[in-house]
Amino acid sequence: MKILLVICDGMADRPVEAFKGMTPLEAAEVPNMDRLAREGQTGLMDVIAPGIVPGSDTAHLALLGYDPMVVYTGRGPFEAAGEGVEVRKGDVAFRCNFATVDAKMHVTDRRAGRISSDTDKLASALNGMKIEDIDIIFKQGVDHRAVLVLRGPGLSPWVSAVDPHHEGKVLVSRGLEPEDEKTARILNEFTKRSYEILNKHPVNIERVRVGKPPANIALARGPGSPPEVPSFTEQHNGLNGAAVVGISLVRGLCSLSGLEIIPVKGATGSTDTDLVAKAKAAKKALTTHDFVLLHFKAPDLYGHDGDARGKVAFIEKIDGALKKVLDGLSDTVVCITADHSTPCSLKDHASDPVPVLVWGTGLRHDSTECFNELEAASGGLGHIRGNELMQMLSGLAGRNPKFGA
Ligand code: ZN
Ligand code: ZN
Repeated sequence: MKILLVICDGMADRPVEAFKGMTPLEAAEVPNMDRLAREGQTGLMDVIAPGIVPGSDTAHLALLGYDPMVVYTGRGPFEAAGEGVEVRKGDVAFRCNFATVDAKMHVTDRRAGRISSDTDKLASALNGMKIEDIDIIFKQGVDHRAVLVLRGPGLSPWVSAVDPHHEGKVLVSRGLEPEDEKTARILNEFTKRSYEILNKHPVNIERVRVGKPPANIALARGPGSPPEVPSFTEQHNGLNGAAVVGISLVRGLCSLSGLEIIPVKGATGSTDTDLVAKAKAAKKALTTHDFVLLHFKAPDLYGHDGDARGKVAFIEKIDGALKKVLDGLSDTVVCITADHSTPCSLKDHASDPVPVLVWGTGLRHDSTECFNELEAASGGLGHIRGNELMQMLSGLAGRNPKFGA
C-alpha cells in the first residue's frame, strides 16, 4: 500500500468560548474526515515530546522520522532550500529581512514598508560577493523576505542574529564559542556591506524620492546548517516520496530530506491557496510515489490571528478538498494530523498533543465516530510520538521488514 500524509498546520486547538467550549475542529463540519475516523482509528500525538512546543520546522523533522533534538540547528537552511537555493554540508544559512535603517544603524522599519517589488535587483547586488574566504549567496523571497547562505571553510551555525526583531539598533552578531567567531565576523561584515551597497542602490534612491522607506539593509536571523541525516528513502526502507506544499520553510525541509517537490499553480501557502489543485496534485503524485505529504498552512495562520471562525471555515475547505483525493482511492494508508497546536486563545503554538487519524482499506477501526481533539483521546492509536508516525504508517502499508525470525 501507499501512504498519504495530510498535515494541517497548527489545526489542533483548545476550547473556544464562542463555540460553547468546542475546538475549531469540533465545531467544523468535516464529513470526509469524520468518515475516515469512523472507518479507521484515531489517537493523540506529542509531535516532539510531551511539553515541548514545536516549531513548524522541528515538528516536520519529527513527522518525517528524524529526531529534531539531535539534528536541528536552526531555520535558515530550510528557508534557503525552500527558495530554491542549494544548501551544502558545512554551509550556514539565514533567513533575512530587507529593512530600513537610519545612518546610525537604527532600524526604523523591519520590513522596509513591506517592499514587494524590485527585491530581485537588490538581492543580485548582494549575491556573489566574497568576504575573506567565504562566498556570499543571497536571494530574495516573497515580499520583504530573503535568504543568505555563507559557504566556505570554518563556518558554524552557533552565532547570534543581527536582526533586533523590533525597531532599535542593529545587533552585533557574536559566536557562542571562540571557534564560532569567524561566522559572526563574516555576518557583521556582510550586514555592514549590505547597507553600503543597498543605501545607494537606484531602487532605493527611487523609493526615497517617492516617499517610501528604502530597503537599505539585509538583516539576518535563524542561522542553521543543513541537518546531516539519511534521506527519507534511506530512513524508511526505500520508500520514495513527494510533497505538495506551499510555504518555503516546509518545502525546503521536504526537499532537503529528499522528497520530490510537486509544483502546484495557485499553491500560495496562505489562506488564498488553491486547495483543490493541491489535492489533485497529491492524488496524481500517489500514482508515481510510495509516499505523498500534502501540507496546508492556513489553519496555523488563523490560529496566530486568533480567528477561530476563519479557522473553522478553512478546516471545512480542507475537508472538501480531501474528497477529491479520497474518491476512488484504494491501496493507500491515509493519515490526517497537524504539526502542532496553534490555539486561537494563545495566538501561538502550544505543547498540547495533536489529534491523528489513520485509515486504510482492510485496516482496523476503533469506536471513534468523528475526528477532533476530544474523540481522539479515546481512539485506538492511543498516545504516540511524532517521530514514530512514519514507522507506524509504513508498517500499516506493509512496507516494513520483519524484525527477527
Ligand atoms: Zn506549523
Ligand atoms: Zn505557526
